[in-house]
Amino acid sequence: MDAKQEIEKLIETKKQEFIDVSNEVWEACETRFALKESVKSFYKVLEKEDFSIDKGIANMDYSFVATYGSGKPVIGILAEYDSLGNLSQVADCGDKRPLVKGGNGHGCGHNLLGTGALAGAVGIKDYMKAHNLKGTIKLFGCPAEESGYGKAFMVRDGVFDCLDIALAWHPADISSVTGASSLAVYQAYFNFKGVAAHASAAPEQGRSALDAAELMNIGVQFLREHIVDSARIHYAFLDAGGESANVVQPTASLFYFVRAKTLDQARNIFRRVENVARGAAMMTGTDLDIDIDCACANYVPNKVLSIMMDENLRNFGSLNLTKEDLEYEKRYFDPLSDAVKEAIYNRTKAAFSDLSEEEIRKIADSPVTDKIFPLVFSDDAPASTDVGDVSWVAPTAQINVACEPQGTPPHSWQWVANGKSDVAHKGMLAAGKTIATTAYDVLTNPNLVEKAKAEHKEMLGGKKFVSGIPTDVMPHQ
Ligand SMILES: [Zn+2]
Repeated sequence: MDAKQEIEKLIETKKQEFIDVSNEVWEACETRFALKESVKSFYKVLEKEDFSIDKGIANMDYSFVATYGSGKPVIGILAEYDSLGNLSQVADCGDKRPLVKGGNGHGCGHNLLGTGALAGAVGIKDYMKAHNLKGTIKLFGCPAEESGYGKAFMVRDGVFDCLDIALAWHPADISSVTGASSLAVYQAYFNFKGVAAHASAAPEQGRSALDAAELMNIGVQFLREHIVDSARIHYAFLDAGGESANVVQPTASLFYFVRAKTLDQARNIFRRVENVARGAAMMTGTDLDIDIDCACANYVPNKVLSIMMDENLRNFGSLNLTKEDLEYEKRYFDPLSDAVKEAIYNRTKAAFSDLSEEEIRKIADSPVTDKIFPLVFSDDAPASTDVGDVSWVAPTAQINVACEPQGTPPHSWQWVANGKSDVAHKGMLAAGKTIATTAYDVLTNPNLVEKAKAEHKEMLGGKKFVSGIPTDVMPHQ
């Protein structure tokens, strides 16, 4: 048995312990920064496994850094464990059925994400201990990935500055190394305050905050023509003043997202959105408070590390799917529309142009697949992630592992229902094994670390990364 097979076996030995943690976090289904119960499950294992834990990092109660070992290299593994609102769902159920009306659910699979990262950290630690291998492993407990961007605050406060490299993963419906960049984003609340008055009897005494919010939105619609094509601006009304049409609305609040390919672009567009809001306040004689929620940078995959991780994913990313697994996943896969199934076929064909029609059909028609998709570096991912900020302070690689039925999207009831299944757990453990074996490569091959760091240095172009979050903004807990 070689070293990597031994690491794989070490993780397999503790399999049930990891499955229990994942299921506990699924049950707790806490959101944003309020992750009190979820972290307990991690602490229980980490304390037993000889990690020292710093709790409550970067002004967040339920963030942590768990450390094992000493000296160089320092390897960071990223864990998330937050769920989403309004996605409560009965486990293993093939149709949409909330477990708790209006409750939370793990629609992005972060119960698996956090636990797979934990399995990776414990796996490599066990090997280091058995073979007296030097180096440091740090598991980072990162709250509020879905909304609030815990990692971005941790980056701003220097939490990741000690790292030589960082490794991350995310549950998905196919397995591949993430070669695509994500979008940088600024998120902010625009709170307008006016004066209430009878809308008919004394309108001259009123100052409408709702008018201000509407004018801001109109101004931003006109702004859209004059920004780069790849930028995205979205908004939601959090407060429209009230329900009485005969009142001049005294309050109104909007929540805005401004996304672009780089943090500089996003920041520049965000400044213009702020000016539009100020103009709307001036036009209406209202007061404006701009409350920045958070910001994060675009993700830049480190190519040296990503290629290293791709090889390990190909060796340790298999789910060893059984007939029962495929049968189970049919409950989510079979009802998907023809259009979705067509899209699955098209992406499979695009990824595996060397395969025969029959082989492509076989992959695309399977309710779940552990075929590893090719690593493609690109800058066209339309979403944002706070792993982005980490990738600017340390060379970072990230994988997707197929834990979910093909064609089902993140943030769906299907992902919640599937979150305690054998397939989900197999994917989670495959991610842990890939992370741990990549950490082994980093620990035993200083040359690769130097190459990854040289690439990262070149990307920074002599500059030091500056967080998009102003220094006085605290996490919105
Ligand atoms: Zn997610």
